[in-house]
Amino acid sequence: MKSTILIIDDSRVARRAIMEAFRESALFSVYLEASSGREGLLLLGDRAVDVVLCDLEMQDMDGWKVLQRMQARAEWQDIPVILLTGHQEQEEKVLGLERGASDFIFKPFDPEELVARVKVQLKVKTLQDNLKKNNRLLLELSNTDPLTGLCNRRCLMQILDKELERSERSKIPLSLAMVDIDFFKRVNDTYGHQLGDTVLIAVAELLKGHLRQYDVAARFGGEEFALVFPDTLPDQALQVAERIRAAAMDLSFPGPLQEVRLSLSLGISAFPHQRVRSVEGLIREADRALYGAKRGGRNRVKLMPGL
Ligand code: GH3
Ligand code: MG
Ligand code: MG
Ligand code: MG
Repeated sequence: MKSTILIIDDSRVARRAIMEAFRESALFSVYLEASSGREGLLLLGDRAVDVVLCDLEMQDMDGWKVLQRMQARAEWQDIPVILLTGHQEQEEKVLGLERGASDFIFKPFDPEELVARVKVQLKVKTLQDNLKKNNRLLLELSNTDPLTGLCNRRCLMQILDKELERSERSKIPLSLAMVDIDFFKRVNDTYGHQLGDTVLIAVAELLKGHLRQYDVAARFGGEEFALVFPDTLPDQALQVAERIRAAAMDLSFPGPLQEVRLSLSLGISAFPHQRVRSVEGLIREADRALYGAKRGGRNRVKLMPGL
């Protein structure tokens, strides 16, 4: 494991002694040295550091300041800081721990104890990092439709909540399209569910391919998808929807699915609109427009009335 330690101490002799203590431990592959608090913070901004050993008594910016600055920055908050001091005062130690230091060591230190204490902090940091990584992964999984890799309904609702609020606040338009594959049941009935799945994946890819940077495609459920168009007027959304509808007709599939011809029906709603006061309203109106498209003969795009 490659770990990095940052040693902040204004005494070169002290820094040497610390380095010497770690020499045989093979705990770290990178040793960063700073002779002042300021220099230490610069290094932190520049490199990924796993643990900080920081002298308390320094000119200019002392260990308390370094600790304070580190606590104030989200990306530094979880880096363990071990404070070193020449003052053998219990109160100072308690204060240090209360202010967010991970440990407190008096100078002159016992080299073995120093290494052992740093090891503990490094272990805690590793566990925390793994936990964060797993949490990120879980969050991603809980927002992703496993078949198509698109945002799932839960994720869609979160995005719509956020976008509708932004739209209300900033007075910018928001458009939503609901997309449904026409006669998809026939695909399943003819070729089986598994090949049906490959068609769903292809449609998801087609949708993704037509979106701009801030647009989002989601699987709403079954063979129904939703497209979120932030900062987009309904007419612009209509143009994208028409392009998608046309492209779906050109989709072709290899092997057993080569006879399959698809078409899509789409319904578009938008905000601001007098009938749209909530995310549910926006979805309901797009859904109604979609059913209008189905009733009108499928393979078409419908705008909600009044747009
Ligand atoms: P319409 O044009 O009215 O939309 O007709 P349709 O056949 O597409 O609509 P219907 O709602 O009758 O059928 C939808 C089908 O989608 C039925 C269901 O088995 C299929 N389906 C839903 N989810 C999945 C899935 O994850 N995989 C596969 N292969 N099929 C799915
Ligand atoms: Mg000092
Ligand atoms: Mg359908
Ligand atoms: Mg459907």
